[in-house]
Amino acid sequence: MSQYQPFKQQVVDTARQLTEQGYLMATGGNLSVRIAGRPAFAITPSNLDYLKMQPDDVCVLDLDLHVLEGERKPSVESSMHAGIYRVRADVNAVVHTHQVYASTLALINAPIPALFDEQARFLGRSVEIIPYAPSGTGFLKNAIVKHIQNHNNAYIMQNHGALCFGHDIERAAHNVEILEKCALAYLLALCTERSVSKIPLPIREIAFAKLRKDQKKAERGETSTSGE
Ligand SMILES: [Zn+2]
Repeated sequence: MSQYQPFKQQVVDTARQLTEQGYLMATGGNLSVRIAGRPAFAITPSNLDYLKMQPDDVCVLDLDLHVLEGERKPSVESSMHAGIYRVRADVNAVVHTHQVYASTLALINAPIPALFDEQARFLGRSVEIIPYAPSGTGFLKNAIVKHIQNHNNAYIMQNHGALCFGHDIERAAHNVEILEKCALAYLLALCTERSVSKIPLPIREIAFAKLRKDQKKAERGETSTSGE
């Protein structure tokens, strides 16, 4: 059996789960996991239905995008994933979706301020907008790498979709759910045209400090999630 099998299985299982939950649709979006202890990652292939995907369909690439395993064409966003793993040592899983509510905020250029405790705890101080660049290009990779160094774990890609990180794939998938809940609540709040209240700044900072603690553990290679 391939040494990469457990990572490929995680990609398949999470892709299926996110598709069944409605966050991934058909072949849109992509996700990857870092191969523990190696400068490499397992990523969904290009243009294959998530519900039909098998572990052998998953591609394993090094951070220079050389194929280590897999017959299929890797996701067109592979360079974006590699760029994220290079600059964020705490990130061991990346999920990129076209989830609807976050994508709506991507159309009106509305970053999500700290609205909920859980959001600050797991997604970071705010969900920022990464400026538009065409899919699958170095421009997009560069825009992303430039904007993700503030330690947040969720971003909105202008006129495109969403990007969530985690120290493991379960956390990244859970962050996709939290982001969508926040995006929907924020959109509905904006629709009322009343002022939108945020959580108090000190509370935001306490929650973010917990996230940073988890991230530092992940950077040291320790498995984490401290409570909650
Ligand atoms: Zn996309």
